Amino acid sequence: MNKDAYWARFFKGIYFPKSSFLQASRGSRASWAWLSLLHGRNLLFKGLRWQVQDGKNIDFWNDAWIPSLPNFKISMAKSVNSEINLVADVIDRSGQWDISKMGREIPQKVVDAILKIPLPHVKRPDHLVWHFNSSGIYTVNLSQREKPESSFKLKKEAWKVMWKMKVPNKIRSFWWRACKNILATKENLFKRRCAVDNLCPICEKEVETTEHLFFLCPWAKMVWFGCNIKPLGDLGGNASVIKWVVMENLTVKEVTNLMGRVAQIAWNIWKSRNDFVFNKTKVNPQHTITSFLHTERECLKAFESPRVQMDNPANQEDLSTWRAPDKGRFKANCDAAIPASGLRSIAAVVLRNWKGKIVDGLAKSVYVGTSLGGELHAIRAACEMLISLGLKEVEVESDSQQAIHLSVSELVPPWDVRALVMDIRHFAKEGNLLFKWVRRAANKVAHEVASLAFRNSLPCNWIVNPPISLVPVLKKDVIESL
Ligand SMILES: [Zn+2]
Repeated sequence: MNKDAYWARFFKGIYFPKSSFLQASRGSRASWAWLSLLHGRNLLFKGLRWQVQDGKNIDFWNDAWIPSLPNFKISMAKSVNSEINLVADVIDRSGQWDISKMGREIPQKVVDAILKIPLPHVKRPDHLVWHFNSSGIYTVNLSQREKPESSFKLKKEAWKVMWKMKVPNKIRSFWWRACKNILATKENLFKRRCAVDNLCPICEKEVETTEHLFFLCPWAKMVWFGCNIKPLGDLGGNASVIKWVVMENLTVKEVTNLMGRVAQIAWNIWKSRNDFVFNKTKVNPQHTITSFLHTERECLKAFESPRVQMDNPANQEDLSTWRAPDKGRFKANCDAAIPASGLRSIAAVVLRNWKGKIVDGLAKSVYVGTSLGGELHAIRAACEMLISLGLKEVEVESDSQQAIHLSVSELVPPWDVRALVMDIRHFAKEGNLLFKWVRRAANKVAHEVASLAFRNSLPCNWIVNPPISLVPVLKKDVIESL
């Protein structure tokens, strides 16, 4: 596959349909804005990584796809008689890494690094992430969710959702003004004779309308690109900004969440634009995205976490004792036992009924790179178990706050665990599952099962006949939950 052609299609088709952004050279339009755009383009290229799904788009030897290796690549050349071309060539039919095939061509250390990459259980094509942060904390999801053309049907609803968005009031009122087209854009100032011209101060090519400022100016497009939101191409001269967020086939909750993100991104674009106008600070899509991610985290902290922890008002005061589910219902507890060194961890799930009796469970060995990975493996296993049992609306508990947060929010997951998080979100929707963070004391049973399995001392009939060391923990949960 010709990589350059692929990139060119990817960017040009989606983000720059009418320009030859990728082929453009300095000579053709050497304005300052254009040069900074080219710089931005190179930044984009530098930060692009693959997140493995089916492996069919990824060049095993030359692409950046292994989170724990330097430069995210295999640092050796392909041998002449290699049987491996694509990453898909080392994924076997059952969807697992083909350890022996890799072992024949690459050193064990590299095999280990690859084994730490979780493979998805729900089919998705390989996925590009924009890994622009050297600490590796954030990645940006570039997947293209197909959006139907806008049709304005949701217009009234869109105004309603604006008041439901989970964002600080300053952002809500800013976004309301943007949608009303009463922000102090150059166009609006010019109309009121408060500016000498109406040109965009950044690209100096077009009139700075609200739409141009937020969606059409090339640097702003890059911000949306990096935030996994695809603005509609051409909105036409006087289309309202709100039209842009009109999307069919989305639930009100989805539209609300999306609108909240859009408002936050726009807010950060507005801040950067004003910084440029008033302080002469160069615009930099990467900085704007970083500050958006910061805003988003703050919002999630303010709005999401209380909801996660206080799902059931009856136990909001106490997350350190296990609570039995309501009569006729079930609850899954998840935990992972992770060794200080080495690759193999245990992901454990214990499913109990409303009487606190174990009805199902599992403890399986998984490869992980981080403890977060281990916790997410356990949560995914719980989701799969519930789906296969046909159980819906079950509570899934974990003592990893980060894992629960990633499962319930729309936070962009870290690159190395993205496959797990996306699977969990998929199953959660399918089974209407609820996730809850609890303290370790409330998650003791799952913890004990994981550590028994880790020490190879979990009997295979532990579900029907719990081992001695588990009995007091189970009893304690039952007594405390009465
Ligand atoms: Zn512009």
